[in-house]
Amino acid sequence: MTRDQYTFVDPTTLYADIEPQRQHMAEPGLDADLTPKADLGEETYRGTGRLSGRRALITGGDSGIGAATAIAFAREGASVALSYLPEEEEDAQRIAAIARDAGVTVATLPGDLRDPEYCRGLVADAVAALGGLDILVNNGGKQIFQESLEEISDTQFDDTFRTNVSAMFWITKAALPHLPAGSTIINTTSIQAYSPSETLVDYASTKATINAFTKALAQQLAPKGIRVNAVAPGPIWTPLQPSDGQPQDKLDSFGEETPLGRMGQPAELAPAYVFLASAESSYVLGETLNVNGGMVSP
Ligand code: NAD
Ligand code: MG
Repeated sequence: MTRDQYTFVDPTTLYADIEPQRQHMAEPGLDADLTPKADLGEETYRGTGRLSGRRALITGGDSGIGAATAIAFAREGASVALSYLPEEEEDAQRIAAIARDAGVTVATLPGDLRDPEYCRGLVADAVAALGGLDILVNNGGKQIFQESLEEISDTQFDDTFRTNVSAMFWITKAALPHLPAGSTIINTTSIQAYSPSETLVDYASTKATINAFTKALAQQLAPKGIRVNAVAPGPIWTPLQPSDGQPQDKLDSFGEETPLGRMGQPAELAPAYVFLASAESSYVLGETLNVNGGMVSP
């Protein structure tokens, strides 16, 4: 590693070599096809034992933010189970191999988050593969832009809510009986929860819901010693964006609106998940940690 997450850097010029580019992928999109490649921490994330012996289930763990989180968790000493769609097998196997190189157990558990039976079985399979569970990262998500409300089909609206909200409910509910005191749940929301784009009415609504779900559940589970928090990313270079997450003409300047003047990389999100997963955040509950290049949030 020539640089890791602790290296002193100027955040305005960090990643100046990764410029966003216009490109279209069919949903859900693959990191394998993303041009230029995102930084998932393969060469930049250094673990120091912060999650030693922990066991984590990460949805959307094949690519983007979930994949960077999986690499970081594994290098911090946690075993990981990855959920993803069957068509993302190539991305998932690459991340699983990198995580296994850290010497931890890795399970790959493909399926569709819109299906409650898959969600419940996912938790059971993760518990069986890892020998238990004490970290849950609800991160899988769907984002399809539409210029007008009339263009959001009932199916899209329902799919976006099932993927982003219902799956979080089904998985969290199924996981609860397995989570010992000290466990942590981290949900992925978005800057869209507070600063919604006009073209993301359905998606932004799910992200506001995730914030409310996080804050309500955090209060309920606090007496059990289970902490619930959220991470709210800003514009991050992942397959979500070129697979109809944004209009093509917005991809060229993706992230330029942030005070740092650039998009973020998945590797810049991973430390936020590590912090909220580990016991070092023992007094942090119901919090939304914004990782967004400086955009103002409540
Ligand atoms: P990504 O495409 O790499 O990850 C999203 C993952 O969701 C996919 O890899 C896929 O495995 C999973 N997924 C989607 N639909 C699914 C389904 N029906 N069944 C199973 N899995 C499904 O993109 P990402 O940007 O890393 O997204 C991760 C999370 O970050 C999402 O919740 C997204 O809303 C959130 N987020 C992303 C950005 C950004 O700019 N990229 C900004 C804010 C929030
Ligand atoms: Mg993916």
